[in-house]
Amino acid sequence: MPESLPPEFQQIEAVAHDFARAVLLPLKERAASGGLDDEAARQQVIEASKAAGFFRMTQPAEYGGSEAGTLALVVTHDALASHNPRWLADVFGPGPGVLANVGEPLKSAYLAPLLEGHKRAGFGFTERDDAPHYTRAERDGDELIISGQKSYVTRGAEIDFLNTLMEVGDEGRAFVAIDTDRPGVSQERVFGSIDGTQHAAFKFENVRVPASHIVGVPGEGMPKAMRQIGNTRLMMAAEAVGRARWVIAHLTGHLRRLEQAGGVKESVRLRYGELRIKVYVARSALYRAARLDATGENSVNEGIAAKVFATETLSEVVDEAIQLGGGAALETDHPLAVLYNESRVMRVAEGLSDVLRLNMARGALDLGKGTL
Ligand SMILES: Cc1cc2nc3c(=O)[nH]c(=O)nc-3n(C[C@H](O)[C@H](O)[C@H](O)COP(=O)(O)OP(=O)(O)OC[C@H]3O[C@@H](n4cnc5c(N)ncnc54)[C@H](O)[C@@H]3O)c2cc1C
Repeated sequence: MPESLPPEFQQIEAVAHDFARAVLLPLKERAASGGLDDEAARQQVIEASKAAGFFRMTQPAEYGGSEAGTLALVVTHDALASHNPRWLADVFGPGPGVLANVGEPLKSAYLAPLLEGHKRAGFGFTERDDAPHYTRAERDGDELIISGQKSYVTRGAEIDFLNTLMEVGDEGRAFVAIDTDRPGVSQERVFGSIDGTQHAAFKFENVRVPASHIVGVPGEGMPKAMRQIGNTRLMMAAEAVGRARWVIAHLTGHLRRLEQAGGVKESVRLRYGELRIKVYVARSALYRAARLDATGENSVNEGIAAKVFATETLSEVVDEAIQLGGGAALETDHPLAVLYNESRVMRVAEGLSDVLRLNMARGALDLGKGTL
């Protein structure tokens, strides 16, 4: 639990709080007053994060990373997010993702440049609902010929290659690394989502890539995707818990001011108490799931529980804080208005809440997995 972390994790937590206060919050303030553009701020976050040791937490030791475990990453995300910073995602460098443990030629051509920051990768998983067929590859000698589409690739306009999930003949699904400048690859659309992030939709028309760009073997694609999404899910839960703690602190300040000005109604106190209960439970579930993961136990269901509860709690807490705070909180740049949009996205990205609920039921009823 967060109160009884071993000393090395308490140290990580303290450093994360210092980093948020010394780097992230001043940058946020400068950007808000117009003194810094978004890209320059991101670069400063990356440089400061490298110096502080956060940037390489997600990277293997072979590439100079510290290979921090799940609990260390959860502690860091929770602590940083509790200051409600911007550019939280930029604090952490690229991890290997679905390219973890690949051999040659993928190791030199994609994994190493990715971890060294020379190339940027996208995650090509989601398909358009109205796609004519699922993205697929046919073998042609030593090559694959790929056709299809991916609809929602985060930072798609900036990437050099896309790890793309597809059917390979009738052998099963696999990720294939595709350079975005290959003939036949086109960006159909670049768009933003309400949390301020940018994405792109890609189309593949008879794109030829060497068959050696298949990650692992066909049939391993979905398990790799689920592992990758599962890892990021717990970090999203940690971010949601941290930001929810920030909202509670913000709301507490607001209610204390109201108290001094004449008192807080019983009905408002009731709602405030309920929100505190939810955040307490969300944080407890997060650390329990992280500890279970650290033991090497299967913790897919516990990660799902933490993600769904934490992101839904954040949404509720933000919504109520706006309601109790009044119209000022709906000005476009107000932190609660920004969080309102960000928290809405978190209930969809890395697994829709209802789809994850169905996965929970399947885990227990069909696979006998999951603890209570
Ligand atoms: C900010 C953001 C970033 C993203 N980044 C990426 C990225 O980098 N790469 C990528 O590949 N994707 C990305 N996505 C896409 C994301 O993974 C999908 O939006 C998400 O998985 C939901 O899929 P969908 O949008 O196709 O909705 P759908 O799956 O079509 O779901 C829509 C509705 O159908 C219901 N539903 C869906 N499946 C089932 C089921 N099996 N049983 C019952 N009901 C079901 C849901 O409850 C929901 O109400 C991103 C999304 C967001 C919002």
